[in-house]
Amino acid sequence: MPKGSKTKDETKKPGKPAAALSEKERELAEIRHELEQQRKTLLNDAGVMIGQGLMAGNENLPDLGDQATAVTDQNFMLRLKEREQKLLKKIDEALDRITMGTFGVCESCGGEISFKRLKARPVTTLCIECKTKQEEDEKVRQ
Ligand SMILES: [Zn+2]
Repeated sequence: MPKGSKTKDETKKPGKPAAALSEKERELAEIRHELEQQRKTLLNDAGVMIGQGLMAGNENLPDLGDQATAVTDQNFMLRLKEREQKLLKKIDEALDRITMGTFGVCESCGGEISFKRLKARPVTTLCIECKTKQEEDEKVRQ
């Protein structure tokens, strides 16, 4: 059995570049790393309760307005905890989607979510158009 010819075959196997990842794979790896970091931070923070502000990019923080301060303070604590739980779930789901190969697909319109948006907000499941639309719908409802 000619051993040499076999190894030679493998090195010139077409279609599957051994070392170089595609751009998309690199981006996914980057985002997966980002999500894992966020997950770690979140779990650490959850043990400490409110640390130095939950995350950059808090969205939809409700206007607490004229409610009694003591009550809102307590609600705020509770809400933060719930937010952390929700975010943790989102992170897990995003990591799942990366594993399943469905990451970066808008769950509303099925379109591709831009890498720039995913990078800024990896847990998102909506493309910018659908998200904007959703936020406008929410504004109307409130
Ligand atoms: Zn969409």
